[in-house]
Amino acid sequence: MKNLFLALLAGSGVFVQQASAQTEVIKKNGYSLSFTNNDPALDPATKQKLINTFFETYPKMAKTYNKDAIKTVSLAIDTAYKGVAATGNARIVISSKWTHSHPEDVDVVTHEGMHVVQDYKESVGPLWLTEGIADYVRYQFGVNNEAAKWSLPDFKAGQNYTNSYRITARFLLWIEKKYKKGFVKEADQQLRAHTFNQTIWQQQTGKTLDELWKEYSENPALPS
Ligand SMILES: [Zn+2]
Repeated sequence: MKNLFLALLAGSGVFVQQASAQTEVIKKNGYSLSFTNNDPALDPATKQKLINTFFETYPKMAKTYNKDAIKTVSLAIDTAYKGVAATGNARIVISSKWTHSHPEDVDVVTHEGMHVVQDYKESVGPLWLTEGIADYVRYQFGVNNEAAKWSLPDFKAGQNYTNSYRITARFLLWIEKKYKKGFVKEADQQLRAHTFNQTIWQQQTGKTLDELWKEYSENPALPS
């Protein structure tokens, strides 16, 4: 069922609803969320928190990073999905299993919502940066990170910026604080405009990516 479901989605680009799923459309301040759930055991409180998180964070992320971001987004809680969450074509899928085991982790919607805002299409940049930006923005706009025990991890020997996600996000935060406030916004814009290339690090900070990482690894404290 899952394969057929995904194949249909990929083939048509059209929202396909599973027979047992219920869809409701929630609208607020010009934004619209089409919420689908095929898990009868989904906690109504968790569901409401996920929806609230979308309407709390998505408009802010759009306003800050991409004013042209699409205003109609789909969110599906799916019992068949085996990962944690994924996003494509303004459609976010979250594993229902994950919502049961991590009910406080509602900012998965923030991270995935940022992917909708990013809208890089065929990205000209590295995936580790795309994911690092999404977690940087979750750090910036997340509404329940602390309760979810989600934070940017301290630097540890052996890490690399290509580790992606939170490890990259903390490096981006360090760049913002130490070298260039607004770096993430600039990188995000260049990625979306497809003007991004490796010279961005030097342009924006005066240092190459590897020079920055070396300095970060030697002195990873975040300037206040
Ligand atoms: Zn992601």
